[in-house]
Amino acid sequence: MKPAFHTSGKVYITGAGPGDINLLTLRAKAVIELADVILYDNLINPELLDWAKPGAEKIFVGKLPYCSVITQETINQWLVDRAQEGKQVVRLKGGDPMIFGRGAEEASFLKENGIEFEIVPGVTSALAAGAFSGIPMTHRDASQMVLFVTGHTKKGTKTGLNFDWNMLAAFDGTIVFYMGVKNIGEIASHLVDAGKSAGTLVAVVENGSLPNQRVITGTLTSISNDVEAAAIGTPALIIVGEVVKYHKEINWFATIQEQSRQRIA
Ligand code: SAH
Repeated sequence: MKPAFHTSGKVYITGAGPGDINLLTLRAKAVIELADVILYDNLINPELLDWAKPGAEKIFVGKLPYCSVITQETINQWLVDRAQEGKQVVRLKGGDPMIFGRGAEEASFLKENGIEFEIVPGVTSALAAGAFSGIPMTHRDASQMVLFVTGHTKKGTKTGLNFDWNMLAAFDGTIVFYMGVKNIGEIASHLVDAGKSAGTLVAVVENGSLPNQRVITGTLTSISNDVEAAAIGTPALIIVGEVVKYHKEINWFATIQEQSRQRIA
């Protein structure tokens, strides 16, 4: 039988899920427990780090406002260096490492350098936010397709949001924008200008799956003001489409939040 873990250095590019630690995979928990080094981002739940073995090195490599950023090149090199020292390295990322997570960029660099790696999937925030807000990504009566889009583009490549807005406006399914809340006004007006109905339903889910989750709903016309009025911060996702109508009916998590507020009061 193949051993579960390697004795030479190896990197585990691991999804930490959307925040609630119960949404982590068993494999992610196992690799955190075996790691000699964990390089982690800011969206991960810090409680996960408590599972590391005594003496494991924990390195924060996320971005924080007003702080100098550790470049992707530096992170790639640190992964290689530590694996070459024979260490088990966990690269812990929010949600799923392959959905807007640069997991593949790191994997390519490891491959180029002859480092063994494994990719451990995680629950991406769109799926968690959908489940915890009662908004299905697909529904037999409302949406047969789902599209994940970044509302933020890589610096130095394209400036602004250079999508095919006509294609997005014509897409007859659910559209989820990651990293788009800062640009929500621009996103909504591009969609309407390209022909999407101004009354299309939109939800914004802030801190999806976490005890402080907030959900606001509106239309393409109202959502920018709604977000401002509610002072929505990050992390948050934008969900566009008819499926948003199910929020009112199957918003089960709000009941749990209310019960825990009453217990505290
Ligand atoms: N790899 C991650 C996404 C990284 S991009 C994943 O699979 O989820 C970062 C963006 O993800 C944020 O800007 C936000 O849009 C979204 N996000 C991450 N965690 C979130 C959460 N708990 N609630 C809502 N949005 C979240």
